Amino acid sequence: MPDTALEQLKRSGRIVVVGASLAGLRAAETMREKGFAGSLTLIGDEPYEPYDRPPLSKSVLLGRADADRTLLPRRRALDAEWRLGVPADGLDMAARTVRLADGDTVPYDRLLIATGVRARPWPNEAEGELDGVFTLRTRDDGAALARALAAGPRRVLVIGAGFTGSEIASACRERGLEVTVAERGDGPLVGALGGVIGAVAAELQREHGVDLRTGIMVTGLEGDATGRVRAAHLSDGTTLECDVVVVSLGAQRNTEWLTGSGLGAGPRGIACDAGCRAFDIRGIVTDDIYVAGDVARSPHALFGYQFLSLEHWGNAVAQAETAAHNMLSESTERRPHLWVPAFWSSQFGVNIKSVGVPSMGTEIMIAQGSRAERRFTGVYGYQGRVIGAVTFDNSRWLQFYEQQIEATAPFPLPFTTVDRRSDGHKPMPADFPDPSVPTHGPTITLSGYSPADRRITFTPAGH
Ligand SMILES: Cc1cc2nc3c(=O)[nH]c(=O)nc-3n(C[C@H](O)[C@H](O)[C@H](O)COP(=O)(O)OP(=O)(O)OC[C@H]3O[C@@H](n4cnc5c(N)ncnc54)[C@H](O)[C@@H]3O)c2cc1C
Repeated sequence: MPDTALEQLKRSGRIVVVGASLAGLRAAETMREKGFAGSLTLIGDEPYEPYDRPPLSKSVLLGRADADRTLLPRRRALDAEWRLGVPADGLDMAARTVRLADGDTVPYDRLLIATGVRARPWPNEAEGELDGVFTLRTRDDGAALARALAAGPRRVLVIGAGFTGSEIASACRERGLEVTVAERGDGPLVGALGGVIGAVAAELQREHGVDLRTGIMVTGLEGDATGRVRAAHLSDGTTLECDVVVVSLGAQRNTEWLTGSGLGAGPRGIACDAGCRAFDIRGIVTDDIYVAGDVARSPHALFGYQFLSLEHWGNAVAQAETAAHNMLSESTERRPHLWVPAFWSSQFGVNIKSVGVPSMGTEIMIAQGSRAERRFTGVYGYQGRVIGAVTFDNSRWLQFYEQQIEATAPFPLPFTTVDRRSDGHKPMPADFPDPSVPTHGPTITLSGYSPADRRITFTPAGH
């Protein structure tokens, strides 16, 4: 067998993974599974081995699991060098080195970037630093918030009713705590699932005793003389007394460390091709730098080749496996990352799952069950085809609709609904908020630009 560059890489090359969490770990395991015998270095700014985040807003807040018992199970022994507790703070693409904040440089032959996202902080820094104000992204965040809830606060204020904010509100109610949710949009989950489903989620929250206030913004937080939060000021002129505030305003992508490197990285993530290879700022694909997980944005054939950024657990795993495969494959053997987006959440006793890209849908049709019973399947349509689906306590239907999405099946659905309840007869507007208005942070972001962003002018050559 010829001793190709790829064989040499597999035998004695240097692979560096920046971001030692879900995507980073699963990619590293896949590389070893594929026979990579060279040196493997994982760099992570958190001091912990890779752990799982979904339990942080669920069992950890309910006191059913400790935040430090959420380590991700290992699929195999890794034989890797772990550089934990030190962030990467620079990339030299020409020299093929990653610079660490402690001054070290780490050389690579192939680099995988999986630096994920972080919680968007409260915009007023001094208010955000008051005791009793939290965000939820890391294991330390989860432990601190769980402690605060266990101490029995008089009232918790959750700012933002996306998936994470709604799960936090649900945990508060399950613990018997008074909770107010302030949401700028018309209802919970509207950024991800639209107004029709948002109305169901709003009813669910209110039935469970949440003081849900929609169309409301928190304009300021107020502390007492000891620096502890005591109240929040709302855009309707009212003041709410609260002793715990959870800021749940979506996420920001961890790309600042790449500024000036020449890689196509920015606030919307790191652009890559369908094979997970990163683009440089000129739009040219790199050969040795790959991206996976929440920080990546990549084109998807099923969704008009729009660039998708997905904050989904399953996407991080699937994209990491594809990136790892491609990093160790000849170009003809590389695979595209064509995972159909899928997401789950549990809140207020309901299991919510989605597949596809609901937020691309202009219409929704309740295909099985009924909203009144909180057990249904909503199917989203876009330009005459099925583009996404959501289930409330009805996940057995998800696989079927995933197949419909993959087959670009027509919308409205040509078949009659199985149980023929009144909800199921005709499509209605899905009622998503104007995409140019920021929401609490949808977990899927479409396309590479913001409709509100008009800074770029295209000037054809010769003009
Ligand atoms: C509270 C919560 C609940 C969730 N629930 C669900 C759910 O129910 N269903 C679902 O599908 N998804 C859920 N998710 C999302 C899911 O956890 C993410 O999609 C997944 O963690 C993404 O993995 P990742 O490896 O891409 O990024 P991350 O898990 O964000 O990991 C990135 C890592 O890189 C590190 N890093 C960043 N910058 C640097 C740097 N410069 N140098 C070194 N390291 C760096 C970060 O600190 C982090 O450790 C939830 C997330 C949270 C926070």
